[in-house]
Amino acid sequence: MRLTILGSGTNIHPTRAAAGYLVQTDQTLLFDFGPRTLANLIKTGTDRHRITHILFSHFHADHFSDFVTFFFDAVYVSKFAQARPDLTLIGPRGTKRLFGTILRAFPGFKTAPFRVRLREVADRSFSLGATRIVPRTVQHSSHLHCIGYRIEHNGKALAYSGDAQYCENLVRLCRRADVAVLDCSFPANRPGSGHMHAGDCGRVAQEAGVRRLILSHFYPIAERYDVKAQAGRLFAGRITIGRDLMEIDV
Ligand SMILES: [Zn+2]
Ligand SMILES: [Zn+2]
Repeated sequence: MRLTILGSGTNIHPTRAAAGYLVQTDQTLLFDFGPRTLANLIKTGTDRHRITHILFSHFHADHFSDFVTFFFDAVYVSKFAQARPDLTLIGPRGTKRLFGTILRAFPGFKTAPFRVRLREVADRSFSLGATRIVPRTVQHSSHLHCIGYRIEHNGKALAYSGDAQYCENLVRLCRRADVAVLDCSFPANRPGSGHMHAGDCGRVAQEAGVRRLILSHFYPIAERYDVKAQAGRLFAGRITIGRDLMEIDV
């Protein structure tokens, strides 16, 4: 399994794209599709017209807004250049309402010559080919259902928190994962609401017994402090500061 970070920042960040992750198993999967991640996806050389499943953690715009650009292109290319396979959009409660509205409202989207399936998931695992996906509800916003994902393939496990505060479900999601990518929005000495800070990330990684912790989803304030050292006070394993286009073999 290979993880490529498409976006390690947040909505407005001067040097990082917002949330987005490419995961390659026997499938090519996208997890979140925030602003500026489409440009990074293209830089990886991945054929965007072969992507069949996009999985969303929740519907703050820093996690899905590049979908609009992606889909506009997909409709155009599949009409006039090359056919594409059907597309399945998977996410928490609200997926059908949000994408149903987008697909009806944007000019030309209704005329896509391929099928679009909308699938809402909660805390039940499912398989895509030989890849097992475990979604789990995490705490982030009182207004939105937010899920983290665990991806299992060939005996390896990758966990992605989405946006999350420290919570039991997140520790469960990460249990003995080979790699955990966690929301490290803030430094431990400058915490903010709805997200973890570096110390929380270390705590989750330690309690879950993960092998390797990747810190990601940085707000600009996080760049000013040594978040790796802050996480390392609570977690004894390997810690990596995520950056855009970083590739990690799981
Ligand atoms: Zn969020
Ligand atoms: Zn976010």
